[in-house]
Amino acid sequence: MRKPTRRTEVGRGERVVPGVWRLRLPLPLPGVPHCNAWALAAGDGIVLVDCGMDTPGSMSHLDRALEQVGLRLEHVRLLVCTHAHIDHCGQAATVQERTGCPLWIHPRHEHLTERIDDPEAALARRIEVARQSGVPEAPLREWAEGQRGGGTGMSGPLASDRDLLSGVVVDTDLGAWQVIETPGHAPSHVVLHQPEHRLLLSGITCSAASRSISTTAGRPTRSASSSRRSTASTGSTCG
Ligand SMILES: [Zn+2]
Repeated sequence: MRKPTRRTEVGRGERVVPGVWRLRLPLPLPGVPHCNAWALAAGDGIVLVDCGMDTPGSMSHLDRALEQVGLRLEHVRLLVCTHAHIDHCGQAATVQERTGCPLWIHPRHEHLTERIDDPEAALARRIEVARQSGVPEAPLREWAEGQRGGGTGMSGPLASDRDLLSGVVVDTDLGAWQVIETPGHAPSHVVLHQPEHRLLLSGITCSAASRSISTTAGRPTRSASSSRRSTASTGSTCG
């Protein structure tokens, strides 16, 4: 019997509402086949929200997803990252290099940058935490070896041009998106809220809700049944 094979993911783009496009980018992470980035129309270009993980050939998926909705990387005027995890900011350095755009991200990104700056020390800390949490030695050693052989998922250092704190606004054709700090999933996590259009780019703040949205149709949902749901939510899964 033929073994089932995992479908090869490629970058895909689709318009969600006028002026907002979802860019679905494949990930090589177990159980997390893709992440979502977002393009927001802004004058003669776009604001890119999140940008995917750096792996061999990964920029071609971002290019492909943009191309599917009639955009190009050269249209990016600003890169905003919802948090400092490699699947959301891994390609930031390359995007900045190719476009010259600024990067805005929350300043508490040391949970990622320390790991990139000194991977051995960071790995030693994670091993110790796992050991103290009761992970058996043999699988822990195997996992650690795998970690040493892989890339960092980052195409370069995070060179932030502005701290993404509550009160900052991101201007687009749909209006201003308000930044709201939402630490939890990561200390650097923020969401972007556009009140007039009742849209929320939620990163992965509400994991369960976000996952169900992003793996079904990937479109915002609207409901007047509760205040929590009265805002369209466009989240993504995260590794
Ligand atoms: Zn994350």
